[in-house]
Amino acid sequence: HLDRIADVDPAVHAFLHVSTESALSQARAVDEDIAAGNQPASALAGVPLALKDVVTMQGAPTTVGSKMLEGWQPPYDATITTKMLEAGIVILGKTNMDEFAMGSSTENSAYGVTHNPWDLGRIPGGSGGGSSAALAAFEAPLAIGTDTGGSIRQPGAVTGTVGVKPTYGGVSRYGLVAFSSSLDQAGPCARTVMDAAMLHEVIGGHDLLDATSINQPVPAVVQAVREGSLGDLRGLKVGVVKEFSGKGYDAGVMVSFNEAVEQLRALGAEIIEVSCPHFTYALSAYYLIAPSECSSNLARFDAMRYGIRIGDDGERSAEEVMSLTREIGFGPEVKRRIMIGTYALSSGYYDAYYGSAQKVRTLIKQDFEAAYEKVDVLVSPTTPTTAFPIGERTDNPMAMYLADLCTIPASLAGHPAMSVPSRLSATDGLPVGLQIMAPALQETRMYRVAAAYE
Ligand code: GLN
Repeated sequence: HLDRIADVDPAVHAFLHVSTESALSQARAVDEDIAAGNQPASALAGVPLALKDVVTMQGAPTTVGSKMLEGWQPPYDATITTKMLEAGIVILGKTNMDEFAMGSSTENSAYGVTHNPWDLGRIPGGSGGGSSAALAAFEAPLAIGTDTGGSIRQPGAVTGTVGVKPTYGGVSRYGLVAFSSSLDQAGPCARTVMDAAMLHEVIGGHDLLDATSINQPVPAVVQAVREGSLGDLRGLKVGVVKEFSGKGYDAGVMVSFNEAVEQLRALGAEIIEVSCPHFTYALSAYYLIAPSECSSNLARFDAMRYGIRIGDDGERSAEEVMSLTREIGFGPEVKRRIMIGTYALSSGYYDAYYGSAQKVRTLIKQDFEAAYEKVDVLVSPTTPTTAFPIGERTDNPMAMYLADLCTIPASLAGHPAMSVPSRLSATDGLPVGLQIMAPALQETRMYRVAAAYE
C-alpha cells in the first residue's frame, strides 16, 4: 500500500501525511507476533488503514485540513486510534479533508484538493474526501471518517465505497477535533460491508473519556453481515422516504435508487412508502445548529494554546495577536460558519434561530419515530447527484450545502446510517450510493440489509 500511495497519490492527493516508518514498524510487530506463534490481536491485525486528519495520533501531525493547526503534533492518541493500534491495524497516515470538516467536496482544505479516482476532474465528496478517495484508489483497504452531517456517507457515495455513521455515542469522540459536538461521529469506511463491520467492532464501544459515549455493548454487526449475506430479507419492512426525490435529484441517481429498491423487494423485503414531512427543514436547522456549535468549539484556537501564532512581536497586544492569527489561520468557509453561529447564538436572536432549529430537530426525531413504527429501516439516495466537477460549487455555498440533503436528518436524530454503492449512474457512469438508516443502536438491521443488497 505504501508503494501504491507513492504511485497514485501525486495525482489523487488523498493523504496529507504518510507515516512510512511507524506503519512499517507496526506491520513488522504483527509479523513477529504471528511468527512467535501468538494469536493475532484481531482479525484485522496487519491490515492498513487511512486515518482522517481530524483524529489524533501521536507521532504524526493533526491539521484538520486547516492552516490554524499547521505543524501541530498531538500529545495523545484518540481512543479510536488506541483501539485500532491494539487490534494490530497498521495506520498508513492522515487523509485530506475540508477544513475542520466543514464542506462536501474537500475543496475547503488549506492543503489542496483531493481528486476523485473515478475522474480526477471531480470532487471525492467531503469533508472526508481523502479517506474515501484512498479506498477508491486502492491506497488503503480501510479508512476512518467522521460524519457531522454526511461527511462519511456522501464521500462514500461519490467514490463507490462503503461509509458508516454509527449511532451518536456509539464510537468515542475522545481525541477528535470538535466541529459540532452534538452531531460529530467517527465511523468506518471500507470497500465492502463486511470490512466496514469488522472495523466498526474494533472502534465501537463505551469510553469513560467521552461523556456522551453510550454505555452499551457494540452491536454485533459482523454477525449481522453474515446473516445478511444469505440474501433473505423476508419479513423485513423497508421504508422509502417520499420527500427524498424530485427536483434537484439527478435522473441517473434516481434510476440507480429505484433499481436498488426493486432489488430489496426481490430479496423478500416489503417496500412501504413513508412520509417524513419535517425532513424538508433538516438542512436549514443543521446550518444553524452546526455553525452555532462550531463558533463555540473553535473559540479555543486563540493563538496561545495550539497551532500557529502570528504577529507575536512584543508590540501587539494578546488580542491583536489572537485576531491576526484567526484572520490568517481560518479559511473562508470556517469564518462564514463562525459568523453565522455567533449571530445565531447572540442574545435577542437565540430563540429565533438556535431555539427554532432545536425545535425542528425534535420534529425530525418525531418523524423518524413515526416512520419506525411502520418499518424496520429507511432508504434513500445518499446524495442527490454524482460527483460534481472540481470548482463547480466553490462560489455557491448553498449549492454545496445541498449535497447533504439526504444525510442530515439521521445526523440530527443521532441515528445510524450508511451508504453502500448501488448501480453506477446510467447518465454519467459515476458511482451512486444507497443510504440505509435505522433507529438508534439498531446498526445490525442496517448492516444486514446492506450485506443482502451488496
Ligand atoms: N457537508 C456538511 C457540512 O459542511 C457535513 C460535514 C460533516 O459531516 N463533517 O457541514
